[in-house]
Amino acid sequence: MDGLRSSNKTNIECLLFDLDDTLYPMSSGINMACRMNIIDYMIEHLKIEESEVPRMCLDLYKEYGTTMAGLKALGYEFDNDEFHAYVHGRLPYETLKPDPILRNLLLSTPQRKIIFTNGDKAHALKALSRLGLEDCFEGIICFETLNNTPFEPEDIDDADYVKVDNNTVDSSANFYLDEADELGFFTATTETEKADTDYENNCEGGIAKSPILCKPSVEAMLAAIRIADIDPNKTIFFDDSVRNIASGKKAGLRTVIVGSSVLVPGADLALSSIHNMREALPEIWEIEGEGDNLEHQVMQQSTSVETVVLA
Ligand SMILES: [Mg+2]
Repeated sequence: MDGLRSSNKTNIECLLFDLDDTLYPMSSGINMACRMNIIDYMIEHLKIEESEVPRMCLDLYKEYGTTMAGLKALGYEFDNDEFHAYVHGRLPYETLKPDPILRNLLLSTPQRKIIFTNGDKAHALKALSRLGLEDCFEGIICFETLNNTPFEPEDIDDADYVKVDNNTVDSSANFYLDEADELGFFTATTETEKADTDYENNCEGGIAKSPILCKPSVEAMLAAIRIADIDPNKTIFFDDSVRNIASGKKAGLRTVIVGSSVLVPGADLALSSIHNMREALPEIWEIEGEGDNLEHQVMQQSTSVETVVLA
């Protein structure tokens, strides 16, 4: 907590959020269903012996950050989009409900807000839409962002869900939108970003190298910081993963472990629920000299929340 309260008035410029099990609770069952789908994919599509799959999943997750990254590192060849469609396509999204409390909290914060997820774009779109948070963020850094997969907007049925709402973006951040596509997704600046990503050194944080760049490697954290053009010292990173928090701290971010009542290594603060943001982090709303503006924003959000509830 001390790390987040090192100054009187806030110098927090950005809030960087993980998505799954951070913006909604693990009790939704999405996480478990996702794991089961990965297991099924390995058995059905990669023809891996069924008895080996559960242990292999866990080992690869531990060693490479995600099971997918581990499979690629081992040389398994499969299409990334096909994998994501299979793993996320059958998730019980109906368990995710609109969260007007979180929506109100997010929209009342004056900082830039960005999603940083290992998930793919389609999953991020669908989950945020189900939560009613699709217009709460400036942009999304996702699997495709870090791994530079060409993106065709027409492939996404619900492409409108994460359009950047320019009314919520501070004009001083307009340069940033140049880096995002029309949906608010960020794309690594191809050659430059790729060159900066030294996979040979992608063993920081105890994560082995893989062709896939993902959390919790420190490289992925640094890439996200570069792509979003944020100052890590002025950014609070929210994530439910102990590993991600540890590497986020190594990358210089202020860190909040979500879904935990106790601090973990590298965490500045622990939040049992993201709903406790305002009580635990009042400094987010304490902008010196911007009281009138903030009050205006909060009033605006009250209207927005009502709209969601009525819908
Ligand atoms: Mg998570």
